[in-house]
Amino acid sequence: MSYKICKRCVMDTTDPDIMFDENGYCNHCTGVLKKLNSYPINLSNEEKEKELQKIVTEVKESGKNKQYDCIVGVSGGVDSSYVLYLVKTLGLRPFAFHLDNEWNTELSVKNIEKVTALCNYLTSDK
Ligand SMILES: [Zn+2]
Repeated sequence: MSYKICKRCVMDTTDPDIMFDENGYCNHCTGVLKKLNSYPINLSNEEKEKELQKIVTEVKESGKNKQYDCIVGVSGGVDSSYVLYLVKTLGLRPFAFHLDNEWNTELSVKNIEKVTALCNYLTSDK
């Protein structure tokens, strides 16, 4: 196949699995858009809260009798730290994990220690 780039996103023929439709749109962004359409994005805040509680209940149920009921990857940045905090406030029992890829900053390490301490979790046993 000669070089081609999707007319909607940045994917191109450097991906050996890419396929294009008659409009020049790739299978990747087309697939994502199909999935997005199935998500309930036009819910009221009350409906969103109900959906969240439904998910939390399912996660708790599937984690019954297990040490943890979910996994949260923690980088030490604000997003993952906040997710861990939210998960705890929802009453879940997360296994917080972090992969030290040698790029950790001192700040991220401190953040991880603080947020895991806040959530009553021990940091890794390094
Ligand atoms: Zn695309």
